[in-house]
Amino acid sequence: MSLLELDGVHAYYGPSHILRGVSFDIDEGEVVTLLGRNGAGKTTTVRSIAGTEPPAIRSGSIRFDGDDITDWPADNIAMGGIGVVPEGRRLFTELTVEENLEMSKITRGWWNTIRRGGLGGGESTMSIDELYDLFPRLDERRTQQAGTLSGGEQQMLSIARTLRLPNLKLLLLDEPTEGLAPQIVKAVGDSITEIADQGLTVLLIEQNVREALRIADRGYVLDQGDIVYGGTVDELESEDLDEYLVV
Ligand code: ATP
Repeated sequence: MSLLELDGVHAYYGPSHILRGVSFDIDEGEVVTLLGRNGAGKTTTVRSIAGTEPPAIRSGSIRFDGDDITDWPADNIAMGGIGVVPEGRRLFTELTVEENLEMSKITRGWWNTIRRGGLGGGESTMSIDELYDLFPRLDERRTQQAGTLSGGEQQMLSIARTLRLPNLKLLLLDEPTEGLAPQIVKAVGDSITEIADQGLTVLLIEQNVREALRIADRGYVLDQGDIVYGGTVDELESEDLDEYLVV
């Protein structure tokens, strides 16, 4: 059974019809990449799944882990096990690395309150020490203000913070390598592989085709709000998809 399944999703911002029947699925344990040019609808797909700043879904459905989550509010989707690393990182720039990771304690308190209402909750997916093992650069910079980190380090912190969510089953990464220098792109990519090796399912949104195909098992290509191609990494590499991608 698929962990995530989008079936014919049509999403709108006001009158603008952005997603035009998007269908794809991800099995448990897979790393799947969603590729496409600027404006193809990648972020809109992430927001449709996660319910954050959501476009209106007028038809189609999104199923996750056996539930129809199409109309669920963002908090319930997060509690159900979908974590988002948003485009642009959105850290608490005045706080230190460690404080950013600890912020999830506050969030967790809030979660526990909700849990008393019977909506679920639980332990963080990874402890702060486990995160420092995964991201040694963050370990070295525990007391540094997040706003003074390099772009790559900020991206690592943004990913690490999301891994503090309880019950995480699916990680949505929205262009994690955007704006990073090549050797940092590789470091972030390697971290994503390591996270996947620990059993997390990953949807990786990327414009960086080469890096995405290095990390993923399978991929889809989105163009003008529609999936125009889907296949294994080998299939994607052998197809001529240049017109849909930044290459
Ligand atoms: P990028 O790589 O540039 O982030 P993307 O593939 O993620 O591109 P989206 O951000 O999903 O693309 O945008 C798809 C289309 O939806 C674009 O034409 C964009 O202008 C439009 N759009 C995005 N957000 C809104 C909004 N809040 N209101 C109206 N239109 C929007």
